[in-house]
Amino acid sequence: MFIEKIRHVITLKTAFLIFFMTSLATIIRPLMIEQDVLFTYVGIVNSIAMGGVFVYLKYTKPKSWHPLLLANVGMLVLAPITFVSGGINSQFAYLFPIIPIFVALVSNAKYTWLTGLTVIIVVIGLFLSVGVFPDFTYENVPHSKTASRAVWLCLAVFMATKLGVEFNRIYSALGNQISEQAETDLLTGLNNRRSVMSFLQTAIDQAKNEARSLSVMMIDLDHFKTINDSYGHLAGDLCLKQVARLIKQNVRNASDLAGRFGGEEFIVVIKDIDAQKAYDIANNIRLSIEQANISLNNNVQLDITATLGICTLKGEQLSTIEHCVDLADKALYQGKKEGRNRVVMI
Ligand code: GH3
Ligand code: MG
Ligand code: MG
Repeated sequence: MFIEKIRHVITLKTAFLIFFMTSLATIIRPLMIEQDVLFTYVGIVNSIAMGGVFVYLKYTKPKSWHPLLLANVGMLVLAPITFVSGGINSQFAYLFPIIPIFVALVSNAKYTWLTGLTVIIVVIGLFLSVGVFPDFTYENVPHSKTASRAVWLCLAVFMATKLGVEFNRIYSALGNQISEQAETDLLTGLNNRRSVMSFLQTAIDQAKNEARSLSVMMIDLDHFKTINDSYGHLAGDLCLKQVARLIKQNVRNASDLAGRFGGEEFIVVIKDIDAQKAYDIANNIRLSIEQANISLNNNVQLDITATLGICTLKGEQLSTIEHCVDLADKALYQGKKEGRNRVVMI
């Protein structure tokens, strides 16, 4: 999501830059050199095309294919004017290495390589087709000079592609790391509250649409304050890590999710399950916490237990996240009142 936003901003800024440069070149170039009027006409058409793309991108909802639209219109704008202004010898050919860099900024390594190779093939094609397209600059460039420029242009495009791919690799890795950290609870390594809530929202929508059942389980450690008060916070932290591991062991990885709700409270979301099976999973978690061997460095054995509240709802019975969590919480507090170390279903 975060990366998508950055890509949208880059696409928008690049569209504006191309529009600005095309317009500027159309106005300034005739004042600097004598040139065929054709270039002014092409410049006006190109400025309108790029301005249109910029306005479209700015005022519509961002879509994943927008960078592709810009890349294609950009190339359509660049190609004809390059062909009729000397091909490889055209000043517009200087812009070729920017194309794979743009693709690296908004896409992945595979597309960057593909774009780089395509541009190199275009450069080779332009070299082989010298004399095929009319050259409205009427410059007489020796063939050896055109060949040398073609080689340097290919090298520049290759280097730009390679640097783009490396940059893409770094910022993809950073992006993945940031999203992973944003979803993980630092102490236990389980999903944090925000990521469980977002998973729960998707699961509720899916269960409603497909008339399936969904179970939400709240787990609260019993008299946990006493552990902290008697053995210190580090011992408490050790317990939380062990409990997290036990909860995770009892949850199916692929479809369900366990997370830390906050403090010494955990939450488990189980998809597509009937109430009895959800109860069995909860009871297994309860038993494994009760039977866990948690020992401190000085061989002190910690005995911990947990109380669990579950709510299992199906299809239209499901409404909001708050409703599900509230029901599971009510079951949990009933369990606390009834004496702790138990599972209560609602
Ligand atoms: P109950 O059986 O009614 O749930 O009793 P309890 O003592 O577990 O309940 P209470 O909510 O009063 O206490 C929760 C304790 O959990 C208080 C706090 O010190 C401890 N706690 C919360 N987060 C952490 C944490 O990250 N590390 C440690 N070590 N302790 C924590
Ligand atoms: Mg609590
Ligand atoms: Mg507690």
